[in-house]
Amino acid sequence: MPEPLLEVRGLDAHYGDFRALFGVSLDAAHGQIVAVIGANGAGKSTLLKSIAGMMRARRDSVLFAGEPIGDLAAHAVVARGIALVPEGRRLFPSLTVEENLLIGGRLGRPGPWDLKRVYELFPILAERRNQPAPSLSGGQQQMVAIGRALMSNPRLLLCDEISLGLAPIIIRDIYARIPAIVAEGLSLVIVEQDIVQALKIASHIYCLQEGRVALSGEAGALTREKISAAYFGV
Ligand code: ATP
Repeated sequence: MPEPLLEVRGLDAHYGDFRALFGVSLDAAHGQIVAVIGANGAGKSTLLKSIAGMMRARRDSVLFAGEPIGDLAAHAVVARGIALVPEGRRLFPSLTVEENLLIGGRLGRPGPWDLKRVYELFPILAERRNQPAPSLSGGQQQMVAIGRALMSNPRLLLCDEISLGLAPIIIRDIYARIPAIVAEGLSLVIVEQDIVQALKIASHIYCLQEGRVALSGEAGALTREKISAAYFGV
């Protein structure tokens, strides 16, 4: 296995008294696409939020490029090179497409991603650049959310259910751009409820169930039956 870029080690997470994650461990190597799958409430978003610094974790439970970052705030995590595409996109509704993208670049690092590169990846966004973000279709808004994250020039992109609520043809279109993103040297952790989509895109799969890793392995070695059993806990 190539050297890990992200190492999650025994990560716990709580919402008040409620414990959402129980000692979760996960690796993502340089240039690797890892998928995290699981049913509603399994803890997938909590895992991504903990890595992204939106929920504080024990310092040494998240290592990035060998450095402990579990207790860093979100802005410091972005500056290290981790960007989150959040569930539900969370675009700024009063801003245009381009203004949303530019905000993504404010906290990040220097690198290959700028407006020009994002518009090359998603040409429709160049056409819509001056429109308010909410006037775009769901798929186009998801492209803005991905573009905004890329503008910070991350080394690791965390994507939370980018296909949620989108038509299959739009999902295919968005997933078709992922190889171009990885070609820039990024690693991806993708939360996905669609097992077939996850197996297609990722080289490694983690299945979360009630806050624990119920199954993990190389995508090629996991059958859909095994994954379904871990997914649904049957
Ligand atoms: P989904 O696909 O529904 O987003 P998920 O796998 O991403 O599910 P999380 O959103 O991480 O799951 O939620 C994990 C658990 O934590 C769930 O039981 C959820 O109800 C709980 N939870 C999530 N956010 C909060 C919160 N802000 N306050 C209290 N409990 C929460």
